[in-house]
Amino acid sequence: MLRTILLKTKMSNFGLPQRSISSLIQSKGFINGSWVDSSNSETFAVTNPANGKVIGNVPNMTADDAVKAVAAAKKALHAPEWAGLTAKQRSVMLKCWYNLIEQNRDEIAKIMTAESGKPINESLGEVTYGNSFIEWFAEEARRINGEVIPSPTPNRELIVLKQPLGVAALITPWNFPLAMITRKAGAALAAGCTVVIKPAEDTPLTCLAVAKLSVDAGIPNGVINVVTTNKSAPVGNVLCTSPDVAGISFTGSTDVGKLLYRNCADGVKRISLELGGNAPFIVFDSANIEKAVDGAIASKFRNCGQTCVSANRFFVQEGVYDKFIELLKTKVAALKIGSGDGPDVQIGPLINKAQFLKISSFVDDAKKLNATIIAGAKPRPDIGELFYEPTIITDVKPPMKLYTDEVFGPVLSIIKFKEEEEAISRANDTNSGLAGYFYSENVQQIFRVARKLEVGMIGINEGIISTAEAPFGGVKQSGIGREGSHYGIDEYVEVKYLCLGNLKN
Ligand code: ADP
Repeated sequence: MLRTILLKTKMSNFGLPQRSISSLIQSKGFINGSWVDSSNSETFAVTNPANGKVIGNVPNMTADDAVKAVAAAKKALHAPEWAGLTAKQRSVMLKCWYNLIEQNRDEIAKIMTAESGKPINESLGEVTYGNSFIEWFAEEARRINGEVIPSPTPNRELIVLKQPLGVAALITPWNFPLAMITRKAGAALAAGCTVVIKPAEDTPLTCLAVAKLSVDAGIPNGVINVVTTNKSAPVGNVLCTSPDVAGISFTGSTDVGKLLYRNCADGVKRISLELGGNAPFIVFDSANIEKAVDGAIASKFRNCGQTCVSANRFFVQEGVYDKFIELLKTKVAALKIGSGDGPDVQIGPLINKAQFLKISSFVDDAKKLNATIIAGAKPRPDIGELFYEPTIITDVKPPMKLYTDEVFGPVLSIIKFKEEEEAISRANDTNSGLAGYFYSENVQQIFRVARKLEVGMIGINEGIISTAEAPFGGVKQSGIGREGSHYGIDEYVEVKYLCLGNLKN
């Protein structure tokens, strides 16, 4: 697999030289096309979760720096170098950025693995996935069409324009250090917006690396700005309250999303939120069990379970319950755990101590409440401080934290059920509604269940479903708006209606 990826990399190198890994690691923030320190000169360290080693230092930027970044983005929004471009010219620039990211995929993946702990094969996969948003939105830039609406009265033309929203602030998490940025920035730039990005404090280096490549792609000064900080509240406050920011796009925890939503209320800002999930994964008696087990492992253990669409509660029907667990046990036992840069590693470390403590406490809570441990359920200090063994637990039920909360870790919690209705109602018994999965070979059941699950995205006989072409987003408290796909552009445009009257035939 890795060999195929490396081969593809060579083929897509466009004859340009590869940079060394250090040339893409930046130690400054990025405002108005310049690499800058924090206004108070503070920095913070970025560490490798696999071994705690410092891999870089970046500025600990302040509210003042955020104000500067917003001012730069506002100036660039109206500058002829950006506002004066045609959609096709923006598209070409984005394509150029895409090509540069493609050429530097190995280095970007190495940086990503170093700062997030993600196994290198997954990082390479994320470069492909993340970059596909730049490619997709480069194409979509040319199709942000307006409309002419038939007028109900004579002598009038009703015209709809789509114009850039303005300055967009993008606040992103650590679990997809590239894709969460490109999914937002690709759409925003395609629409003609300018952006201020605040990457997660655990993973700012991937973001800075691609910001550097945006310069080489010819994206004008001030169009992309990056504010690095581990004091996110004051920076977030500027982004939510500045009259010069037209919209916020946030991916992260539900609590922080709600806070930002409230902070945007006074300015009645456009807000797009992609928050936590509590994804059900239902295996019906009619399922192909081999496929269901493979899907369960892919959905649960990718990025060590740290994705918002990771399956969180596995509901398995009684007729296939024993077979599912037996097969799952064998496959989970074969997962290779270790440092993300090790060969064939599939399970890396958790991102930080807080995550590690959360996972351990959720498992301890389930043990206390008489859940049954089938595999794992223990840390691996022999590998490193933040490693946790892939875990299978059955007899999970309320009020166990594993049942009620998003675990965001390598713990697969299983619940046995009898009837289809029971599985659907338990799956929907949560405030979250991001992704859901189910396995069934019965076409009647497939449509029945798909219509009833209260989520924004469903994998039917599939454990991994995200792609640039499809709309990503949730219902209930999992968010507002959609990213990727042709819907993703809507978050970054204003619809303006023109009524041209008193026309004479
Ligand atoms: P997680 O639990 O996945 O780390 P968070 O919601 O805490 O999720 O973080 C997601 C992003 O939101 C990160 O970039 C983080 O720095 C940022 N963030 C956290 N708190 C705030 C805040 N008060 N204002 C703005 N951004 C914030």
